[in-house]
Amino acid sequence: MEMEYKSPMFDMAVQQLENIAEKIGLEHGILERLRIPRRSLIVSIPVRLDNGETKTFLGYRVQHELTMGPTKGGLRYHPDVTLGEVAALAMWMSWKCALIGLPYGGAKGGVNCDPTKMSLNELEHLTRRYTTEIMMLIGPETDIPAPDMGTDERVMAWIMDTYSMQKGYTIPGVVTGKAILLGGSAARKMATGGGIIHLIEEARKTTGLKKEKLTLAIQGFGNVGSSVGIIARRKKWDVIAVSDVSGGVYNSKGIDVDALLAHMSKTGGLKGFKGGDSITNEELLETKCDVLVPSAIARVITEKNASKLKCKILAEGANGPTTFEADPILQERGIFVIPDILANSGGVTVSYFEWVQDLQSFFWSQDRVIHEVKELLSKSFNEVLAITKDKKVNNRTAALMIGIGRVAEAKRQRGLYP
Ligand code: NAD
Repeated sequence: MEMEYKSPMFDMAVQQLENIAEKIGLEHGILERLRIPRRSLIVSIPVRLDNGETKTFLGYRVQHELTMGPTKGGLRYHPDVTLGEVAALAMWMSWKCALIGLPYGGAKGGVNCDPTKMSLNELEHLTRRYTTEIMMLIGPETDIPAPDMGTDERVMAWIMDTYSMQKGYTIPGVVTGKAILLGGSAARKMATGGGIIHLIEEARKTTGLKKEKLTLAIQGFGNVGSSVGIIARRKKWDVIAVSDVSGGVYNSKGIDVDALLAHMSKTGGLKGFKGGDSITNEELLETKCDVLVPSAIARVITEKNASKLKCKILAEGANGPTTFEADPILQERGIFVIPDILANSGGVTVSYFEWVQDLQSFFWSQDRVIHEVKELLSKSFNEVLAITKDKKVNNRTAALMIGIGRVAEAKRQRGLYP
């Protein structure tokens, strides 16, 4: 049955789940129910391209489990998207929401396409048709998409508009990560990056990394990576290495983040930026720095390069950047890992606040949003640390033990239908 999902990412997600199941003594019946996503929809999305030709794209929406409430998860536009990748990301969303205590199950969506090679017009048609095809699954009470790799608040606005037009009235709560004018939340745009920085501060306290000016290396400079860079600069930390899909740049004195952003908005990418020396994505990961923040694709830290990392803290902005085999190497080397389901959870947490605000049509101040998200993240961070001490496990294992344990307990209490 799992053949449908077979892929390196789904295999990794299941391997993690089975490892934790053994550690927490999860009964076989619940493990069986958690291994396979509850619902997966594959849709074809024909789009008339600007050159007059029609091309059909493949799109997916996967809901991993619905035990804790409606499902929640981002929408990815990327050429590597497969059903297995989307299913793995949906499963990780379940553990993440449960870890933070959000009343959601995990979901994820994706379209196999390269958004960097498509016009705005093509992207809009792709998004509207995809939305129509998955209408049966999404809605404020059922499943709420948000931005992920390759999508942004403009894509969310198109989804919200398409959904609302078909229902006949405006329904902002069907997506999160929208512009504030359309019912978005204050502080959502920078929430994932802001959460990462807050957790780095928490990690500093426990690791005794006292120096005021931290050095950061950031892989991927999209929504997550750039917001980490912007906030780090505000704190006067040095961003010494940055990369995107086109390559990377290194400057031991600190990269001028504003100049880099200006270059990127002019040229569409990092390539050609003159504010440092060129490096590859592989070299970026091995840069000597205080904090390494992978914020792009999955499975970049492997058993091959884990022994070469030279950071003190690994703050996983991306989902699944570290393979199962690399984890023990990082642990042995004493690198403090803030695992993905904790590190990047500021995004879904503020998405949850956005959804609550939409349902109530009552909007919070930025200060309130930031205060509440910091509180939830610190609480989860401390819960993870307590388990690492109590059970003598690493941070990722602890975070997964909490997340998976909570979903399992909810399933136990609700029982098995019918
Ligand atoms: P984005 O599309 O805004 O940016 C992605 C960045 O990664 C770009 O700079 C791109 O050039 C780079 N990239 C793509 N392929 C690459 C490759 N092969 N090698 C190196 N760099 C590559 O995406 P995002 O929203 O910033 O998401 C980045 C990661 O963070 C993803 O793993 C996503 O699942 C995770 N995440 C995002 C959010 C969010 O709120 N957007 C929340 C939680 C987790």
